[in-house]
Amino acid sequence: MTSWQRVVFSADCDEDGNCPMCGIDYAECGCPGPTMDGYEYRWINNVLHARSIEDDGSDAQQGTKRASGRG
Ligand SMILES: [Zn+2]
Repeated sequence: MTSWQRVVFSADCDEDGNCPMCGIDYAECGCPGPTMDGYEYRWINNVLHARSIEDDGSDAQQGTKRASGRG
């Protein structure tokens, strides 16, 4: 079971492009981005989190696009 990780947006990075969570280059850190393949997303405490999908043997679910523009 993979735990939820906070999603880091590129806009959250500092002016050098470093991840605010890791302090290293956003492209090299392990934080999930907002549009990663193989990840599922959930809002937790108004913060978008992601975790990798490790389903095997279950029915493949069609991705459902839901508007999430509430602020
Ligand atoms: Zn990071």
